[in-house]
Amino acid sequence: MFKKIIVVVTLLFCLSTIFNVAFSIDKKTTTKKELDSNILFETSEGIEYTISTNEMIDTYIIASALYMDFNSEILMPNTEDYAIYKRAKEFFSPYANHSFLKDFNKYVYNGDINGDAIGVLLSYSSTPSLDKICEVDAKYRNYVFKDDEEIDSFIKGLKSFYKYTNAKEFFDNNKGLINSIKSYVKYNIKDSRLIELIKRTEEYVNTKNKYFGDLPIEYETVLTVFRPSMASFYSYKTHSTNKIVTFQSPNDFTCDPYKLDINYMVENVIHEYLHSYINTPIYHIATSKCTDTNKYYTRLTENTLYRNMPLYRQVDEYIVRAIEGRIYTQVFGKEYTFNRLLNKEIRFGGFERLDEIYNYLSNYEIDRNKFPTIDDFLPGLVEKLTRRLD
Ligand SMILES: [Zn+2]
Repeated sequence: MFKKIIVVVTLLFCLSTIFNVAFSIDKKTTTKKELDSNILFETSEGIEYTISTNEMIDTYIIASALYMDFNSEILMPNTEDYAIYKRAKEFFSPYANHSFLKDFNKYVYNGDINGDAIGVLLSYSSTPSLDKICEVDAKYRNYVFKDDEEIDSFIKGLKSFYKYTNAKEFFDNNKGLINSIKSYVKYNIKDSRLIELIKRTEEYVNTKNKYFGDLPIEYETVLTVFRPSMASFYSYKTHSTNKIVTFQSPNDFTCDPYKLDINYMVENVIHEYLHSYINTPIYHIATSKCTDTNKYYTRLTENTLYRNMPLYRQVDEYIVRAIEGRIYTQVFGKEYTFNRLLNKEIRFGGFERLDEIYNYLSNYEIDRNKFPTIDDFLPGLVEKLTRRLD
C-alpha cells in the first residue's frame, strides 16, 4: 500500500492573474479553469477515469526532499543527474528554514513522504488555495493526522510554503516536461488499453457494490515525476461519488523523470486498483484463518519490499499480481502477459509461485456460479498460497 499540467500561453497569463488577485485577498474558491489545467486525460466511456497532476502534492514532495537535504533515494533520486531535480534543488534550497519544515519529521517516513499526508491532500483541491473537497477519510487519521487541528496545521503550512517560496514560478518555468507528458499520454493511452483493463478489473472481482455501495466510482491517477519509483492507492468518498486514486509516476523503471513508459504506468494503475478491491477481504481471511504458524507460512516472498511485512500484506501482493496476470491475459494474451508482467516477478521479484497461483485462478473463471465474486474464491486461494506443505 506503501509502493501535471498544460495551458496555452494566454491561459497561463489568465491563471497567474487569478492567483495574484487571490493571494492579495487571501481568500478564493477553486475555479474550474484551474482544475482543468491539472487534467492530462479524461474519459467517461463506460467508466469515469481521469489522469491529473497536483502541484500541491508535488510541492509537499519537494519540501520533503528539501528537509532530507536532497539525499532521499525515493524523492527526486539522484538529484544531480536530472535537470528538473537540479532546478528544484536550486529553487527551493534557500527556503530550508521556512516554518513548514521546522517540525517536519512527522511528515516524512523512511526517506519517503508520509502516505497519510497524500490521503489528506487528495481531500483538498490541487490548487494553491487548497480548498477542502470532502472530509479526510478515517483511514488516514490514525497516526500523524489524528484530529482536524493536525490536518489544518499541515494544510496551512503547505499553503504558506507554496506562497512564500513562489513555487508557482518554479512549476510555470518547468511546464515543458508536464506538457510532454500530456501529449505522450494523449497519443498512447488508446494502445495501452487502460480503460478496457479497468473495466475488466471491475468485472473480474465483481465486488464494486459490496465495497463501494451504490455511489458511482470515479477512478483517477495522480501523476508525479518527483517520486518516480513508487505507486500507491487511495480511496475516499465525496458527497456524490467514490474516488479510487492511484498516486504514481509516468516514468519507466530507471527512475529517469524524462523517460516515460505508458505500459509500465498502466501496469501500476491496474495493480493499485486491484489492491483497493482485494486488500480488505484478504486481511480478514489471513488474520483469522492463517494464524497457526505450524500450519501456515509466515513468509511467502523474498522480495525486499515485502518480506518483512505481515502475512496478509504478502498475500495481497501475490494475489494482486496473479489476478492482474489473468486480466492481462484476457486483453493481451498469455504470451504478452508472461513476457511483460509475470516472468520478471517469478524470476527476479521473489514471487516464485506466481505461475501456480495464476493457474489456480482458472478455477474461479470456470465456475462463476459457485464463485459469483472474487471474495467467494479468495478463502480457497489464500489457503492454497499460505498453507505449509506437509
Ligand atoms: Zn502492490
